[in-house]
Amino acid sequence: MSKNSLYQYGTIGSLMAGAMDGTDTINDFLKHGDFGIGTMDGVDGELIILNGQAYKVSASGEVIHLMGAEKLPYGAIAHFHANHTITVSKELGSEAVEKLVLAKMRSKNLFAGVKITGVFKKMHTRAMPKQEPPYIRFSEVDQPNFYAEEIKGTVVGFYSPALFHGTSVAGFHVHFISDDHQFGGHILDYTVKDVKIEIQDYADLIQDFPKEAEFLDSDFDYSNIAEEISISE
Ligand SMILES: [Zn+2]
Repeated sequence: MSKNSLYQYGTIGSLMAGAMDGTDTINDFLKHGDFGIGTMDGVDGELIILNGQAYKVSASGEVIHLMGAEKLPYGAIAHFHANHTITVSKELGSEAVEKLVLAKMRSKNLFAGVKITGVFKKMHTRAMPKQEPPYIRFSEVDQPNFYAEEIKGTVVGFYSPALFHGTSVAGFHVHFISDDHQFGGHILDYTVKDVKIEIQDYADLIQDFPKEAEFLDSDFDYSNIAEEISISE
């Protein structure tokens, strides 16, 4: 695998449709990079991989440093290095930040990594509560929201081309972890204040899948999957 590949294990679509069992270990997942996002077994919280370390933000809000044996049903990861850097030292909302990133990255038709480090004026996240089988659909789960102001930390995530809405989330899918490891989650909205934005262009995508019979033999209902992903993510 090249240093410019994005590796994805599982797909958002299957996760939404109930493939929530953890089937890949964090240790195996980390072989494919040092920077990433995902969720854990039973959609238990929000996964952040930063500098090769794995963290889970639980629905309680607690940030847990993962040890490696824990399993995930879905994640995306890469060896992060920046192809482009932007510095922003004024308040700017997430939509404006995304426009800056889109203007700088190689192409909206390729995958990109986005890392934003510094001080955030506002950060609004959520975290999935762990589900038990038989799983309901992801879009039916109530998710606690978290709010922080004047917080130091890192946004970690990826841009996916529109065509890939289904395997991943079209556009930006980003998670957050604070520098003090006290706050984080799947980002719904943010305002930056004084940050460095780093962007990585990926040449290709490596798509991996669970190999367990439960996944291989499932009849997933994907009839409303695009809408469910848009609502939930
Ligand atoms: Zn997420």
